[in-house]
Amino acid sequence: MHAAIPVARIVPVTNAAYRQKNVHVAVLRLDEIHPVISGNKWFKLNRYLDDAMLLQKKAVLTAGGAWSNHIVATAAACTERGLISIGIIRGEAPKEFSQTLLDAQRNGMQLHFISRSDYKNGEVPVEAYGHLKKFEVYEIAEGGFGELGITGSMDILKTADTSSYTHIVAAVGTGTMLAGLLRAATANQNVIGISVLKNNFSVEQAVQELAPQKPVHINYDFHFGGYAKHTPALLEFMNDWYRHTGIATDFVYTAKTFFAADQLIKSDFFPPHSSILLIHSGGLQGNRSLPAGTLIF
Ligand SMILES: *Cc1c(COP(=O)(O)O)cnc(C)c1O
Repeated sequence: MHAAIPVARIVPVTNAAYRQKNVHVAVLRLDEIHPVISGNKWFKLNRYLDDAMLLQKKAVLTAGGAWSNHIVATAAACTERGLISIGIIRGEAPKEFSQTLLDAQRNGMQLHFISRSDYKNGEVPVEAYGHLKKFEVYEIAEGGFGELGITGSMDILKTADTSSYTHIVAAVGTGTMLAGLLRAATANQNVIGISVLKNNFSVEQAVQELAPQKPVHINYDFHFGGYAKHTPALLEFMNDWYRHTGIATDFVYTAKTFFAADQLIKSDFFPPHSSILLIHSGGLQGNRSLPAGTLIF
Protein backbone atom coordinates (compact mmCIF):
# COMPACT_ATOMS: atom_id res chain seq x y z
CA MET A 1 0.00 0.00 0.00
CA HIS A 2 3.06 2.25 0.16
CA ALA A 3 3.17 4.91 -2.54
CA ALA A 4 6.10 4.32 -4.91
CA ILE A 5 9.15 6.45 -4.10
CA PRO A 6 9.34 9.27 -6.66
CA VAL A 7 12.36 9.72 -8.92
CA ALA A 8 14.24 13.02 -8.58
CA ARG A 9 16.86 14.68 -10.81
CA ILE A 10 20.34 15.51 -9.62
CA VAL A 11 21.47 18.74 -11.29
CA PRO A 12 25.16 19.72 -11.16
CA VAL A 13 26.08 23.32 -10.31
CA THR A 14 29.30 24.52 -11.90
CA ASN A 15 31.08 27.82 -11.50
CA ALA A 16 34.63 29.14 -11.28
CA ALA A 17 34.61 29.42 -7.49
CA TYR A 18 33.62 25.78 -6.92
CA ARG A 19 36.08 24.59 -9.58
CA GLN A 20 38.84 26.56 -7.92
CA LYS A 21 38.03 24.94 -4.57
CA ASN A 22 38.05 21.55 -6.29
CA VAL A 23 34.60 20.52 -5.09
CA HIS A 24 31.70 19.02 -6.98
CA VAL A 25 28.28 20.50 -6.20
CA ALA A 26 24.85 19.23 -7.24
CA VAL A 27 21.22 19.76 -6.26
CA LEU A 28 18.70 16.98 -5.56
CA ARG A 29 15.52 18.41 -7.09
CA LEU A 30 12.78 17.31 -4.70
CA ASP A 31 10.98 20.51 -5.73
CA GLU A 32 10.11 18.78 -9.02
CA ILE A 33 8.54 15.55 -7.75
CA HIS A 34 4.93 16.74 -7.43
CA PRO A 35 3.03 19.89 -8.46
CA VAL A 36 1.57 20.52 -4.98
CA ILE A 37 3.04 18.05 -2.42
CA SER A 38 6.39 19.73 -2.79
CA GLY A 39 9.82 18.63 -1.70
CA ASN A 40 10.39 17.02 1.65
CA LYS A 41 6.69 17.22 2.60
CA TRP A 42 5.88 14.32 0.27
CA PHE A 43 8.29 12.15 2.27
CA LYS A 44 7.43 13.52 5.70
CA LEU A 45 3.69 12.93 5.19
CA ASN A 46 3.80 9.60 3.37
CA ARG A 47 4.08 7.23 6.35
CA TYR A 48 1.61 9.18 8.48
CA LEU A 49 -0.99 8.88 5.73
CA ASP A 50 -0.25 5.15 5.33
CA ASP A 51 -0.83 4.86 9.08
CA ALA A 52 -4.05 6.89 8.97
CA MET A 53 -5.44 4.63 6.24
CA LEU A 54 -4.32 1.46 8.01
CA LEU A 55 -6.18 2.68 11.09
CA GLN A 56 -9.20 3.42 8.86
CA LYS A 57 -9.35 7.05 9.87
CA LYS A 58 -11.66 9.31 7.89
CA ALA A 59 -9.75 12.54 8.31
CA VAL A 60 -6.34 14.02 9.05
CA LEU A 61 -5.92 17.06 11.28
CA THR A 62 -2.77 19.15 11.40
CA ALA A 63 -1.65 22.70 12.12
CA GLY A 64 0.42 25.48 10.59
CA GLY A 65 0.72 29.14 9.64
CA ALA A 66 -0.85 31.11 6.79
CA TRP A 67 2.03 30.35 4.36
CA SER A 68 2.77 26.81 5.54
CA ASN A 69 4.16 24.33 3.00
CA HIS A 70 3.01 21.56 5.34
CA ILE A 71 -0.63 22.72 5.29
CA VAL A 72 -0.98 22.88 1.52
CA ALA A 73 0.91 19.58 1.06
CA THR A 74 -1.30 17.83 3.62
CA ALA A 75 -4.43 19.09 1.85
CA ALA A 76 -3.34 17.69 -1.53
CA ALA A 77 -1.92 14.42 -0.15
CA CYS A 78 -5.13 13.70 1.78
CA THR A 79 -7.29 14.35 -1.27
CA GLU A 80 -5.16 11.92 -3.30
CA ARG A 81 -5.86 9.24 -0.70
CA GLY A 82 -9.51 10.00 -0.23
CA LEU A 83 -9.04 11.40 3.27
CA ILE A 84 -10.71 14.54 4.61
CA SER A 85 -8.17 17.14 5.78
CA ILE A 86 -8.59 19.68 8.57
CA GLY A 87 -6.13 22.54 9.00
CA ILE A 88 -5.74 24.42 12.27
CA ILE A 89 -4.31 27.80 11.34
CA ARG A 90 -2.45 30.09 13.72
CA GLY A 91 -4.02 33.53 14.19
CA GLU A 92 -7.37 35.22 13.57
CA ALA A 93 -9.19 34.44 10.31
CA PRO A 94 -7.87 37.05 7.85
CA LYS A 95 -10.21 39.14 5.68
CA GLU A 96 -8.28 37.92 2.68
CA PHE A 97 -6.82 34.42 2.69
CA SER A 98 -3.18 33.94 1.72
CA GLN A 99 -2.62 32.12 -1.59
CA THR A 100 -1.42 29.15 0.46
CA LEU A 101 -4.69 28.95 2.39
CA LEU A 102 -6.69 29.37 -0.82
CA ASP A 103 -4.70 26.49 -2.34
CA ALA A 104 -5.28 24.36 0.76
CA GLN A 105 -9.00 25.10 0.53
CA ARG A 106 -9.08 24.34 -3.21
CA ASN A 107 -7.40 21.02 -2.38
CA GLY A 108 -10.26 20.21 -0.05
CA MET A 109 -8.96 21.28 3.36
CA GLN A 110 -11.34 22.57 6.01
CA LEU A 111 -9.68 25.50 7.77
CA HIS A 112 -10.09 26.59 11.39
CA PHE A 113 -8.40 29.65 12.81
CA ILE A 114 -7.34 29.78 16.44
CA SER A 115 -5.63 32.45 18.54
CA ARG A 116 -1.88 32.29 18.89
CA SER A 117 -2.12 31.47 22.59
CA ASP A 118 -4.54 28.57 22.03
CA TYR A 119 -2.33 27.42 19.18
CA LYS A 120 0.71 27.47 21.46
CA ASN A 121 -1.13 25.32 23.99
CA GLY A 122 -2.04 22.86 21.24
CA GLU A 123 -5.75 23.38 21.76
CA VAL A 124 -7.99 22.03 19.01
CA PRO A 125 -11.50 23.57 19.08
CA VAL A 126 -14.27 20.92 19.07
CA GLU A 127 -15.86 22.63 16.05
CA ALA A 128 -12.78 21.64 14.04
CA TYR A 129 -13.92 18.02 14.07
CA GLY A 130 -17.25 18.95 12.44
CA HIS A 131 -19.47 15.88 12.18
CA LEU A 132 -16.55 13.54 12.76
CA LYS A 133 -15.91 11.67 15.96
CA LYS A 134 -12.53 12.31 17.53
CA PHE A 135 -11.47 8.68 16.98
CA GLU A 136 -12.08 9.07 13.24
CA VAL A 137 -9.47 11.82 13.00
CA TYR A 138 -5.73 11.20 12.68
CA GLU A 139 -3.57 13.98 14.08
CA ILE A 140 -0.21 14.94 12.59
CA ALA A 141 2.02 17.30 14.57
CA GLU A 142 2.87 20.68 13.05
CA GLY A 143 5.53 20.24 10.36
CA GLY A 144 5.14 16.45 10.46
CA PHE A 145 7.59 16.14 13.35
CA GLY A 146 7.90 12.61 14.71
CA GLU A 147 9.00 9.06 14.03
CA LEU A 148 6.95 8.42 10.88
CA GLY A 149 8.13 11.74 9.45
CA ILE A 150 11.71 10.60 10.00
CA THR A 151 11.19 7.14 8.46
CA GLY A 152 9.54 8.75 5.45
CA SER A 153 12.44 11.19 5.07
CA MET A 154 14.89 8.28 4.82
CA ASP A 155 13.45 7.66 1.33
CA ILE A 156 14.79 11.04 0.14
CA LEU A 157 18.19 9.49 -0.54
CA LYS A 158 16.52 6.75 -2.62
CA THR A 159 15.02 9.15 -5.16
CA ALA A 160 18.28 9.08 -7.15
CA ASP A 161 21.75 7.51 -6.92
CA THR A 162 23.14 9.60 -4.08
CA SER A 163 25.79 7.12 -2.94
CA SER A 164 28.83 8.93 -4.40
CA TYR A 165 28.33 12.16 -2.45
CA THR A 166 30.63 12.82 0.51
CA HIS A 167 28.48 15.61 1.96
CA ILE A 168 24.73 16.15 2.11
CA VAL A 169 23.47 19.62 3.03
CA ALA A 170 19.85 20.27 4.00
CA ALA A 171 17.65 22.86 5.71
CA VAL A 172 16.60 22.33 9.33
CA GLY A 173 13.19 23.43 10.61
CA THR A 174 11.88 20.82 13.04
CA GLY A 175 14.88 18.59 12.17
CA THR A 176 12.68 15.70 11.01
CA MET A 177 14.18 15.59 7.52
CA LEU A 178 17.72 15.88 8.92
CA ALA A 179 17.12 12.92 11.24
CA GLY A 180 15.91 10.87 8.24
CA LEU A 181 18.96 11.85 6.18
CA LEU A 182 21.29 10.93 9.04
CA ARG A 183 19.67 7.51 9.36
CA ALA A 184 19.75 6.85 5.62
CA ALA A 185 23.21 8.19 4.75
CA THR A 186 26.08 5.74 4.14
CA ALA A 187 28.95 5.39 6.61
CA ASN A 188 31.14 7.64 4.43
CA GLN A 189 28.68 10.50 4.11
CA ASN A 190 28.60 13.64 6.24
CA VAL A 191 25.19 15.22 6.77
CA ILE A 192 25.13 18.96 7.50
CA GLY A 193 22.02 20.85 8.57
CA ILE A 194 21.47 24.57 8.14
CA SER A 195 19.13 25.98 10.77
CA VAL A 196 16.56 28.40 9.34
CA LEU A 197 15.47 29.40 12.85
CA LYS A 198 17.40 31.80 15.05
CA ASN A 199 19.29 30.32 18.02
CA ASN A 200 17.36 27.08 17.76
CA PHE A 201 20.20 25.23 19.46
CA SER A 202 18.02 22.61 21.18
CA VAL A 203 17.22 20.99 17.81
CA GLU A 204 20.71 19.48 17.70
CA GLN A 205 20.30 17.24 20.74
CA ALA A 206 16.75 16.33 19.73
CA VAL A 207 17.94 15.18 16.30
CA GLN A 208 20.94 13.39 17.78
CA GLU A 209 18.67 11.35 20.04
CA LEU A 210 16.41 10.49 17.10
CA ALA A 211 19.34 9.59 14.83
CA PRO A 212 22.20 8.34 17.01
CA GLN A 213 23.90 6.57 14.06
CA LYS A 214 25.96 9.61 13.07
CA PRO A 215 27.19 12.84 14.64
CA VAL A 216 24.81 15.73 13.99
CA HIS A 217 26.29 18.89 12.51
CA ILE A 218 24.03 21.93 12.42
CA ASN A 219 25.18 25.39 11.39
CA TYR A 220 23.25 28.28 13.03
CA ASP A 221 24.82 31.21 11.17
CA PHE A 222 22.43 31.50 8.24
CA HIS A 223 18.97 32.24 9.68
CA PHE A 224 18.92 35.80 8.18
CA GLY A 225 17.06 37.20 11.19
CA GLY A 226 14.91 34.19 12.03
CA TYR A 227 12.21 31.92 10.64
CA ALA A 228 10.70 33.32 7.41
CA LYS A 229 12.78 36.50 7.79
CA HIS A 230 14.91 37.70 4.92
CA THR A 231 17.47 40.34 4.00
CA PRO A 232 18.33 42.11 0.72
CA ALA A 233 21.47 39.93 0.51
CA LEU A 234 19.39 36.74 0.64
CA LEU A 235 16.98 37.95 -2.05
CA GLU A 236 19.90 39.02 -4.22
CA PHE A 237 21.46 35.57 -3.78
CA MET A 238 18.19 33.93 -4.88
CA ASN A 239 18.13 35.96 -8.10
CA ASP A 240 21.86 35.38 -8.77
CA TRP A 241 21.53 31.65 -8.09
CA TYR A 242 18.58 31.47 -10.47
CA ARG A 243 20.48 33.40 -13.16
CA HIS A 244 23.46 31.05 -12.90
CA THR A 245 21.74 27.69 -12.35
CA GLY A 246 18.14 28.10 -13.52
CA ILE A 247 17.09 26.72 -10.13
CA ALA A 248 14.43 28.63 -8.18
CA THR A 249 14.75 28.58 -4.38
CA ASP A 250 12.34 29.54 -1.58
CA PHE A 251 13.36 32.28 0.86
CA VAL A 252 12.36 30.36 4.02
CA TYR A 253 14.44 27.18 3.62
CA THR A 254 16.35 26.38 0.45
CA ALA A 255 17.80 29.84 -0.30
CA LYS A 256 19.29 30.01 3.21
CA THR A 257 20.66 26.49 2.80
CA PHE A 258 22.23 27.09 -0.59
CA PHE A 259 23.59 30.49 0.52
CA ALA A 260 25.18 28.75 3.51
CA ALA A 261 26.68 26.00 1.34
CA ASP A 262 28.06 28.62 -1.04
CA GLN A 263 29.71 30.52 1.84
CA LEU A 264 31.02 27.34 3.44
CA ILE A 265 32.57 26.23 0.14
CA LYS A 266 34.22 29.62 -0.32
CA SER A 267 35.60 29.55 3.26
CA ASP A 268 37.16 26.07 2.78
CA PHE A 269 34.79 24.25 5.13
CA PHE A 270 34.70 21.33 2.66
CA PRO A 271 37.98 19.56 1.92
CA PRO A 272 39.14 19.49 -1.74
CA HIS A 273 37.51 16.68 -3.79
CA SER A 274 34.35 16.83 -1.71
CA SER A 275 31.21 15.93 -3.59
CA ILE A 276 28.39 17.99 -2.11
CA LEU A 277 24.70 17.22 -2.56
CA LEU A 278 22.34 20.10 -1.74
CA ILE A 279 18.80 18.98 -0.95
CA HIS A 280 16.21 21.16 -2.69
CA SER A 281 13.42 20.46 -0.22
CA GLY A 282 10.81 22.43 -2.21
CA GLY A 283 8.57 25.10 -0.71
CA LEU A 284 8.54 27.49 -3.67
CA GLN A 285 4.86 28.32 -3.13
CA GLY A 286 5.83 30.38 -0.07
CA ASN A 287 7.61 32.94 -2.27
CA ARG A 288 4.15 34.27 -3.14
CA SER A 289 4.20 36.09 0.21
CA LEU A 290 6.94 38.39 -1.15
CA PRO A 291 6.01 41.64 -2.93
CA ALA A 292 5.59 41.17 -6.69
CA GLY A 293 8.79 41.86 -8.59
CA THR A 294 11.13 40.90 -5.72
CA LEU A 295 12.28 37.79 -7.54
CA ILE A 296 13.11 37.35 -11.22
CA PHE A 297 11.45 33.90 -11.30
C1 LIG B 1 9.20 21.96 5.99
C2 LIG B 1 10.39 22.29 5.16
C3 LIG B 1 11.72 22.10 5.63
C4 LIG B 1 12.03 21.70 7.05
O1 LIG B 1 11.93 20.35 7.31
P1 LIG B 1 12.06 19.82 8.82
O2 LIG B 1 11.89 18.37 8.67
O3 LIG B 1 10.96 20.46 9.61
O4 LIG B 1 13.38 20.22 9.34
C5 LIG B 1 12.76 22.34 4.77
N1 LIG B 1 12.55 22.79 3.52
C6 LIG B 1 11.31 23.03 3.04
C7 LIG B 1 11.15 23.60 1.69
C8 LIG B 1 10.20 22.78 3.85
O5 LIG B 1 8.96 23.03 3.36
